[in-house]
Amino acid sequence: MTTTPVIQPGQIEPPAGEIPFIYQPDSVFRDRAMRLRQLAAGHVMKDFLLFMAQLTEAQHAALTVFPRVPLPSAAELTLCREHGMPPLSVQSWPRDPVWQEALRQIIAHVMQTATVETRKILLHLQQMDSAALETFATDILTGQFDGMDLGAAPFVAAALQVYWTYMASTLGAQAFAANDISNLCPVCASPPVSSIVRIGGRENGLRYLCCSVCNTQWHMVRVKCSNCESTKGISYYAIEGTSGAVKAETCDECGTYLKIMHMDKDPQVDPVADDLATLALDLMMDENGKNRSGPNLFLISPSELAV
Ligand SMILES: [Zn+2]
Ligand SMILES: [Zn+2]
Repeated sequence: MTTTPVIQPGQIEPPAGEIPFIYQPDSVFRDRAMRLRQLAAGHVMKDFLLFMAQLTEAQHAALTVFPRVPLPSAAELTLCREHGMPPLSVQSWPRDPVWQEALRQIIAHVMQTATVETRKILLHLQQMDSAALETFATDILTGQFDGMDLGAAPFVAAALQVYWTYMASTLGAQAFAANDISNLCPVCASPPVSSIVRIGGRENGLRYLCCSVCNTQWHMVRVKCSNCESTKGISYYAIEGTSGAVKAETCDECGTYLKIMHMDKDPQVDPVADDLATLALDLMMDENGKNRSGPNLFLISPSELAV
């Protein structure tokens, strides 16, 4: 375990107003799938990461053919921007059942190469009726993981991510503004899966929180807890012998951590893929008594069940 010296909040930030508040990655699922395949090579969790790559490729395919769906009107978006409200809140947005079509496509895509065990899960999902799938979706999106079928959850989450990513990217970054609650996504009000320090362009050196559902990235100053906004008691941990591209940012004030990815150490780093490939860091944090402050919906962990 190594700790690293920290910079102070605001030390490297450009003046307020010049910071692009929202960053929307292009081709997010295609790039994530490529990253997962890259990370799988020689990894102890190779088979798992390759399966996640396939699931992410299925997301990319489903997003490519995603149908037009109702979106908030220009007036609604303006109102939300003025009042700091996320217009596509996972809690209140009237979810279009078309996301279930994406789920069917994703299941068909991954079924071909699934193991016997996974095939059972997929067949069970195929047999669930629409109402049961909506209940499952609500439980995932509202963090009610207790008693959840954790084997089936990644597939349902994958389809929901496609639906919300479609809506967020169709509306575009300019449709959204800062949220009243800075640790939740300004688009869909979900918690972040991890954060990333970007390189290049106006985002260079800035830290963004990465939404666990719609893939939007939103700015938050560095060396600040993304959960309770404390600037005291923040520490960084990395696995010994790694490049340090992925660290855990821990907070003594609220006892949580979230991973932070550094593009300057590895430009291909991905908020979801690199999170899945660094489970050793989660185990280390668990031993330190820290809980994750945001979920990875492909791998909802037992520690989050207790939160
Ligand atoms: Zn979001
Ligand atoms: Zn905190």
